[in-house]
Amino acid sequence: MKCDVAIVGAGPSGLILAHLLRQAGLEPVVLERRSKDYVLSRIRAGVLEKTTTNLLERLNLADRMHAEGLVHEGFHLADGEKLIRIDLAELTGSSVMVYGQSEVQRDLIDAIPARGVEVVWEADDVALHDVDSDAPRITYSKNGTSHTLEARFIAGCDGFHGPCRKAIPETVGVTHERVYPFGWLGILADVPPCDDELIYANHANGFALASMRSATRSRYYIQAPVDTNLDEWPDERIWDELAVRLGPEAGGRITRGASIEKSIAPLRSFVFEPMRHGSLFLAGDSAHIVPPTGAKGLNLAASDVTYLSDALIAWFKQGDQNALDGYSSRALARIWKSERFSWYLTSLMHQFPEHSSFEREMQRAELDYIANSRAARESIAENYIGLPL
Ligand SMILES: Cc1cc2nc3c(=O)[nH]c(=O)nc-3n(C[C@H](O)[C@H](O)[C@H](O)COP(=O)(O)OP(=O)(O)OC[C@H]3O[C@@H](n4cnc5c(N)ncnc54)[C@H](O)[C@@H]3O)c2cc1C
Repeated sequence: MKCDVAIVGAGPSGLILAHLLRQAGLEPVVLERRSKDYVLSRIRAGVLEKTTTNLLERLNLADRMHAEGLVHEGFHLADGEKLIRIDLAELTGSSVMVYGQSEVQRDLIDAIPARGVEVVWEADDVALHDVDSDAPRITYSKNGTSHTLEARFIAGCDGFHGPCRKAIPETVGVTHERVYPFGWLGILADVPPCDDELIYANHANGFALASMRSATRSRYYIQAPVDTNLDEWPDERIWDELAVRLGPEAGGRITRGASIEKSIAPLRSFVFEPMRHGSLFLAGDSAHIVPPTGAKGLNLAASDVTYLSDALIAWFKQGDQNALDGYSSRALARIWKSERFSWYLTSLMHQFPEHSSFEREMQRAELDYIANSRAARESIAENYIGLPL
């Protein structure tokens, strides 16, 4: 089989890229290790920047998002006692959209047949060959039969653990990494959220986040050790802890209910550069990870593939080599700023085992400064809604 661009991974970066290339008349093929149902059932990000919602509009895939998504004009930081509102609308004139990653995936997947996007689900043993040549290949197997996919370019949209980044020789790339000494224990429940807006709470017991997927489905997180045994956290214990960490105002408004999903996710900051090697381009989590505190992971995946699709289309349509050569540095400029913001909010809102009372007082002082300084709130708001492309 031959195609213009072979895309590894049918997460948000792979599927958005496939739709953008197809919209421009190119022929991408997506290889995905998992089944369609598995991809649709993954519970992940939920806050979309304007740059991401604009992109879905550009693809004419935004109708359900506008009908069912929740426009948020602000969010809160909590210091264990009071709520500090970051008024996105007043500070920036903009807003964010709360619409689950699984819903974005569903809209992208539902449009696959009508748009003529080819996706091979449950493609096993994906291996990249000759990526530093002009004729790269991917071999894979499906139902026990081996296949070869020839392409002019390969897009590595295969997440943090996929094979694409690993196909780049270690001597070529540089890795920057910070692994945080804790994770997020998440709970999903069909109960109304405790607030109309997200609340990021710094409490002496640890961080907590109150968020939602809809007016009737809540998503909460608490900071917990990465090796936490979920059996030790029955729902009631999580609700009790949330009620304490979110503070008296928001904690008192929690509606409890049975969890429909419970999981623990590690927190990591990670950047691999450059995001190109020969005919292979990395996008999304394959090249970078942010801790979810700034809600940037999915949004960065979307901005990467915006840059990458522009560059690939310019190459196929006008023979423009410059855009492809500039892809990595263009994408990284935005990635590093999102890494900074995600690291800053993570550092501000979590309890670190190595912290002394000094760092704890620094966090308190910073939160007090944010509460009383419009300039500080404006800076947070500008980053939260997403920096321009
Ligand atoms: C548990 C979890 C919770 C998260 N929560 C948040 C959040 O609250 N807020 C936020 O902003 N971000 C969050 N993120 C991050 C966000 O979900 C990611 O940034 C986003 O999914 C990146 O999209 P992607 O397409 O680059 O990668 P992915 O979504 O990881 O997609 C990669 C795809 O590649 C496929 N793949 C992997 N290996 C192979 C292979 N060998 N062959 C073929 N296909 C392969 C995978 O199955 C997957 O479908 C979370 C991530 C995780 C893992």
